Amino acid sequence: MELSQNARIVLEKRYLKKENGQVIETPEQLLKRVAQNVAQADYNYQKSPEQVAEVEQGFFEIMDSLEFLPNSPTLMNAGNELQQLSACFVLPVEDSMEGIFDALKYAALIHKSGGGTGFSFSRLRPKHDIVRTTGGVASGPLSFMKIFNTATDVVKQGGTRRGANMAILRVDHPDIIEFIKAKKNKEEFTNFNFSVGITQSFMDAVVNSENYPLVHPKQGHVVEELSAQKVFDLLVEMAWDNGEPGIVFLDRINQDNPTPAVGDIESTNPCGEQPLLPYESCNLGSVNLSKFVRNQAIDYDRLKQVIHTAIHFLDNVIDMNQYPLPEVEQITKANRKIGLGVMGFADMLIQLGLPYQSTQAIQTAKDVMGFIRQEARNASNTLAEKRGMFPNFPNSIYQQASKHLPLRNATLTTIAPTGTLSILASSSSGIEPLYSIAFTRTILDGQKLVEVHPYFKELAEQKGFYSKELIERIARTGSVQGFNEVPQDIQALFVTAHDITPEAHVRMQAAFQEYTDNAVSKTVNFPHDATQDDISQAFILAYQLGCKGITVYRDGSRSGQVLSTSNTT
Ligand code: ADP
Repeated sequence: MELSQNARIVLEKRYLKKENGQVIETPEQLLKRVAQNVAQADYNYQKSPEQVAEVEQGFFEIMDSLEFLPNSPTLMNAGNELQQLSACFVLPVEDSMEGIFDALKYAALIHKSGGGTGFSFSRLRPKHDIVRTTGGVASGPLSFMKIFNTATDVVKQGGTRRGANMAILRVDHPDIIEFIKAKKNKEEFTNFNFSVGITQSFMDAVVNSENYPLVHPKQGHVVEELSAQKVFDLLVEMAWDNGEPGIVFLDRINQDNPTPAVGDIESTNPCGEQPLLPYESCNLGSVNLSKFVRNQAIDYDRLKQVIHTAIHFLDNVIDMNQYPLPEVEQITKANRKIGLGVMGFADMLIQLGLPYQSTQAIQTAKDVMGFIRQEARNASNTLAEKRGMFPNFPNSIYQQASKHLPLRNATLTTIAPTGTLSILASSSSGIEPLYSIAFTRTILDGQKLVEVHPYFKELAEQKGFYSKELIERIARTGSVQGFNEVPQDIQALFVTAHDITPEAHVRMQAAFQEYTDNAVSKTVNFPHDATQDDISQAFILAYQLGCKGITVYRDGSRSGQVLSTSNTT
């Protein structure tokens, strides 16, 4: 395994097995543990020990080469006591004391085991509503969400990471204005991402400058009407101010719901890439595209092999998983959703010589993701023939689509952020452009270290314009745009998230969405001086292009920003 210094630090801190605080496992042993554990599921399907050993070897190889990595909980917990392997969960929140506090308890159990939780709070009656049994007044969704936030702080996940949550409120919930404004106070809801659940009728009302109704979630009557444009403008203003709330297009998500007869999708996991039914969980994995370029072309033969092994792996995870609740186990095993995605896409484009903003880059995104989706389906079909289709298949949209091949999994593809996975694989994260070409890292003793993107360093040395002084100057902003020493074509190739237009970000997200069953994690970056109108245009473009949601971030709008171009940790 070729690991960078950073990857080793992250592995030691969070992934390698420890006893009494001492690391007792090497990175190779970690991968063996995971491969060995996940391969065990093959015994459920009449495989001999020799065959299982072969499967294990295949799983080990694609991880060891960093061509594929499963989501963090699988790496941390497979073969260990916890054995909780999924990153994504959605829990229902019913409008009753029992319902709310059950959800809170379940969330705590899931956080403890390393998963992230998403909730829709749309079923809760609004603030000031009458509570029949006590004659008192209801305190509304936001007040309950504060308790979820505090509980998340208290339960530090498996001693390693703090939990993450998504809160969704429908745009027609009577408390929507309070929800949209809630993150203005930056001290509150620190463990939540907020997204407004947007409906098609709301978007129509925006376009037609009409009012739209706020509806009582229990009684179904119209509480009041608001100007759709005003609510949309408020959303835009808040997103401009600090990046939240994001939005999710609920109707579009439900158009792609593979099992509408089983239930409606109300929420996604914390980072938005995985819409799920109430109680459903999903495990993800990512192919590292930076490992598939040979002689400036994509090695589709190898990519196909890795996809088939990865789908086999992710399907096995469903069997090997120790579920935190019986309800979660039941629905997860009935739909068997998995989410294979990518990381290292920007690195791949650089190897191919394609600028991220170019039309060829968009075409490459469609080609690669189209290929991954098709091969993932072929692999799931092969599994269905050996292991049976997912139990809800007869109840699914695939059954209705005539002549659709049987599938083992209700969904197959998801683009995750790969926040930690990309550090382990030393690749660019998810489908994001590079964040910076060079930056200054402050290490533990306060010493400053300048790091530079390896491909840039290699090219700069080859073309003879490399100097320590140049890299130090680049590290001040992270960008190479406008540097006379750097040839124009290299400036065009090494663009960062801040160098490209918000429109190009949205178009790339939409290109991947077109070929992804679930959703796509993407941040649409804006310069500090972007206007609210710019944000509004990006929202509308995302809607028009068929995205399932959008998250924006205006540079410098949040203090304590996790990644910043200079002085990054
Ligand atoms: P990783 O790289 O660690 O596998 P990602 O950044 O790709 O994770 O995130 C994928 C999903 O994992 C998130 O959408 C969320 O559901 C879950 N997740 C990520 N970070 C956390 C966290 N700190 N706590 C709980 N869940 C998390």
